[in-house]
Amino acid sequence: MTTRTVIEGCAIATVDAAQTEYRDGHVVIEGQRIVAIGEGLAPEAAVGGAESRRIDGRGLLATPGLVNCHHHLYQWATRGLAQQATLFEWLVELYPVWALIDADTCWAAARAGLAALACSGCSASTDHHYVFPRGAGDLLEVEIGAAASVGVRFHPCRGSMDLGHKDGGLPPDEVVEDRDAILAASDAAISRFHDPSPGALVRIALAPCSPFSVTPGLMTDAAELARRRGVRLHTHLAETLDEEQFCQERFGVRPVDYLDDLGWLGDDVWLAHCVHLDDAEIARFGATGTGVAHCPNSNARLGAGIAPVAGLVGAGVPVGLGVDGAASNEDGGLASEMRAALQFARLAGGPQALTARQALARATIDGARCLGRDEELGSLEVGKLADVALWRLDGLEGAGIEDPVAALVFGSTQTVELLLVGGRAIVEGGELRTADEAHVAVEIARASQRLAAKAQARV
Ligand SMILES: [Zn+2]
Repeated sequence: MTTRTVIEGCAIATVDAAQTEYRDGHVVIEGQRIVAIGEGLAPEAAVGGAESRRIDGRGLLATPGLVNCHHHLYQWATRGLAQQATLFEWLVELYPVWALIDADTCWAAARAGLAALACSGCSASTDHHYVFPRGAGDLLEVEIGAAASVGVRFHPCRGSMDLGHKDGGLPPDEVVEDRDAILAASDAAISRFHDPSPGALVRIALAPCSPFSVTPGLMTDAAELARRRGVRLHTHLAETLDEEQFCQERFGVRPVDYLDDLGWLGDDVWLAHCVHLDDAEIARFGATGTGVAHCPNSNARLGAGIAPVAGLVGAGVPVGLGVDGAASNEDGGLASEMRAALQFARLAGGPQALTARQALARATIDGARCLGRDEELGSLEVGKLADVALWRLDGLEGAGIEDPVAALVFGSTQTVELLLVGGRAIVEGGELRTADEAHVAVEIARASQRLAAKAQARV
């Protein structure tokens, strides 16, 4: 018998195209999908028999599960380092440590990072894994296993670097791979893990790392492979002025021109950061449907600048949110990115630059657009997958704020009360149900210490 879940008595922000909201509504879920949603109690016909699971939603706000569009999960094992560094300084300090990661590091880090995301209301996440030390095994397989154990929907990117220091790139030569090996591994990852079917829990994207760590040849070949196999493309772009200077010196163009020349603007591409764009570049993103993963907390941590989110949204660009790697965002939760996106947009452009509802849309439907899943995810509508976050707003953090969306985005709510992924409860009562948080914390503490010891022994 199909499991039916009935949630009643909650406020609901659907984030559908009409921005429909209910003050006191219901959501009914059958199997993996939403079968009814609206104001008041659920209709008898939708509720079903006594076997239905009933959830009392009083004091709660239902939103779509949040979607994380940029991460480097392995970095959970190197948090708190290079605290005053710019991006390039931070990378140069951390690359040699990352060269020592192994399957145990990646397992512990992915479990910790995804557990933190789930507790912050994130039901679907990407990851951008681009460090594959020789002999470390299939680290993509490891993190896909970790995501299955936590229970979130997962869109990992097979990342890559092939431009080492000796060829003018930023990373040391020991952490880059051969281009042919990268393409073969990328092709194999798609064959093994990519699930194009409706309701998929795992999909693959291809993601050469950045202009200063990847050759133009790999960028072109990766785009050709991704388009031939029907998967999406992702990379870092325009994160810092150092990168802009690198592109001017090496390629004679700005970062967006560089990508455009390589055939990398399009509606199958989403790009992390995009802090340093001019108006013409924003317009080109809008015209081509290129998506952006806005990572405000990481940009703040590294002092990179504030991305022009209001301008991008105004140009019709899908702007999702990303936590970025935990080594440049030790928080690692997505609810706090929503608040940071709102505040940073206002610091740059005044109090009307981004509304609470626009911030929620960044964290939900536009995140789904970036991952190519907006027909199934990112809003609460009949027929969509039941990825639902329920936030408690009657506690100290939210009580007394009349507008529930304002309470969520302006307020300090960080931990989700209930998180459903395809109707399955991953977080309940504010606690992770699929793994023991204390055990996950012990695992990552051990993995971080082991990695630090290996790095120390090599110095
Ligand atoms: Zn990143």
